[in-house]
Amino acid sequence: MKSIIERTFDTPFAIQNFIDGKFVDSVNQMNFENINPATGAMLCTVPDSDEKDVQKAILAAQKAFPVWKNKSNEERFRILYVIAQGIMENLDRFALAESLDTGKPLSLAKSVDIPRSAQNFEFFATATMQFASESHDMEGVALNYTLRKPLGVVACISPWNLPLYLFSWKIAPALAAGNCVVAKPSEVTPLTAYLLGEICQKAGLPDGVLNILHGFGHRVGAALIAHPDIKAISFTGGTATGKQIASVAAPQFKKLSLELGGKNPNIIFADADLDQAIQTTIQSSFRNQGQICLCGSRILIESSIYEQFKSRFLEKIGQLKVGNPLDSMTNVGAVVSKNHFHKVLDCIELAKAEGGKILTGGNSLKIEGNCENGYFIAPTVIEGLPQHCRTNMEEIFGPVVTLQSFDNEEEALTIANGTNYGLSATVWTQDIKKAHRMANRLEAGIVWVNTWMLRDLRTPFGGVKQSGVGREGGWEAMRFFTDAKNVVIKY
Ligand code: NDP
Repeated sequence: MKSIIERTFDTPFAIQNFIDGKFVDSVNQMNFENINPATGAMLCTVPDSDEKDVQKAILAAQKAFPVWKNKSNEERFRILYVIAQGIMENLDRFALAESLDTGKPLSLAKSVDIPRSAQNFEFFATATMQFASESHDMEGVALNYTLRKPLGVVACISPWNLPLYLFSWKIAPALAAGNCVVAKPSEVTPLTAYLLGEICQKAGLPDGVLNILHGFGHRVGAALIAHPDIKAISFTGGTATGKQIASVAAPQFKKLSLELGGKNPNIIFADADLDQAIQTTIQSSFRNQGQICLCGSRILIESSIYEQFKSRFLEKIGQLKVGNPLDSMTNVGAVVSKNHFHKVLDCIELAKAEGGKILTGGNSLKIEGNCENGYFIAPTVIEGLPQHCRTNMEEIFGPVVTLQSFDNEEEALTIANGTNYGLSATVWTQDIKKAHRMANRLEAGIVWVNTWMLRDLRTPFGGVKQSGVGREGGWEAMRFFTDAKNVVIKY
């Protein structure tokens, strides 16, 4: 069989599930089409998996579990490290697949998504070698020590916006901690997860340790999370889906990590370095077409610089090139699907109905050439909306931001904390005391000061309020994917 990774993606093909180390069709032999959002053309067919495939995958994972958990840390390190290398050796193929599948600029996939996916494997490969547990000395009475054991078979479910990046962010620590995994990528972006199967085969990952199922969330995803033999669920996606998953998992006492939506504030004080703030705010607004959970979709600007910020921000937006994701000059590509395209355009209509003034964008774009049927939306900026309208309270997850002004720190905090979400926040100021005060009082899992998206993989990552439960990253992830057992030995 021709290597999967060497495909050119010129003509439609059929992707398959990866179960017990082999590529197989779904048991029901049913498939659906996956569309390239930049062209509207069919890219591949995807298995419409269901509970029968879940059962097969879980059996394979259970069979593999004793093999994997009993491997030495060094052996697990080596295999995960080789997976990371395999991804980077095939950087061009992975980046092309990610761009075709999502509509994101190829340059972004190549510089951010795919290198970070490899880094996730590399990082957790080394965690395997370094992870340690605690001991607690009861001063002459007894010694406690903690054993950390892998959980068994766990489920990892990821969304479409950063497909391989978020898929690997879950799978890598789960495997590093000695678990076997049944994973499901989003049905609209299955391609790089499919390619990953072959990399894992070549890296010598034992059969059944990682199983990848494709299909719809409401069918195969739901069957996976409900299965009694799944010990933990690591999920990234929308808040409504997270709520649904929690309602199924909690009564079964499964461990649960939920990374959910956001409505992140980007707070710009009058004393900010405005050049840097504007340059970075362009990124935090429109990178990946605004489809990053950490994008700052509410821009709060101190009143004294509101007009200055607005005119310079709009001028920079005018320089962005929206177009064919494969063109190296493109800054903004297509949104991920026809459904999402209409959802974002509906949100813009809602903003107008709520009294918002469209300062730029607000419309879809027709791109000449082979992207004429693609799903492109102009970078959109809206002002004049009240704090509590739906546009300022609900996640849009597209190239759409709102501007609001504030007069002082207290007001900025009230607006920033005034939604049900609490994923991230960005503060722009040169006053270090103000930065500390804001960071302390912002309701968010991560606060960036004078930067955005700067990530150290050792740090805890996650949200508060309806942005999630639990933390990923570093030891947090290793602890999530293990159970702690305390042993007490009397002196
Ligand atoms: P969804 O919640 O729709 O889907 C996420 C994943 O869950 C997909 O694989 C989906 O499958 C699956 N799924 C859907 N329904 C179920 C179910 N009942 N049981 C099990 N699995 C299910 O999110 P999107 O894919 O639309 O992603 C966008 C969302 O993700 C945004 O809200 C964004 O903020 C959030 N996000 C959060 C991040 C964070 O770190 N906090 C990071 C990135 C995104 P399918 O696609 O097949 O329906």
